[in-house]
Amino acid sequence: MVDNCIFCSIVEKNIPAEIVYEDEAVMAFNDINPKAKIHIIIIPKKHISSLTQVTDEDVPVLGKMIFSTQALAKEKGIGESGFKTVINTGPDGGQVVEHIHVHLLGGEPLHGIT
Ligand code: 5GP
Ligand code: ZN
Repeated sequence: MVDNCIFCSIVEKNIPAEIVYEDEAVMAFNDINPKAKIHIIIIPKKHISSLTQVTDEDVPVLGKMIFSTQALAKEKGIGESGFKTVINTGPDGGQVVEHIHVHLLGGEPLHGIT
């Protein structure tokens, strides 16, 4: 838990979110400003500020994030139609929230979005 981190506040349930999955290590919720019909954010409950800040001990939670992402995609019915997964890192990567997260985007063609 890091003060002033919006995603830590969601983990602590101090601010509301439409939570779609939660276990001991991972949480997923609908993006507040969706860029596709389905836009889910998947985070570790532990505060890790970005992909460049992971350590050896974070490897299991990274696996859990990716595993949860594909499970959610299938649960939302987009396993077959396909989807995009994005991890923005740093200023040039367009990372705004400094708590590592996977974007799961789908439910419509997203060919124009890299
Ligand atoms: P980034 O640009 O850091 O990769 O993505 C941050 C994402 O978090 C954005 O898509 C943004 O809409 C979403 N976001 C930012 N603040 C909140 C919030 O308070 N609640 C939810 N549900 N999503 C948020
Ligand atoms: Zn955080």
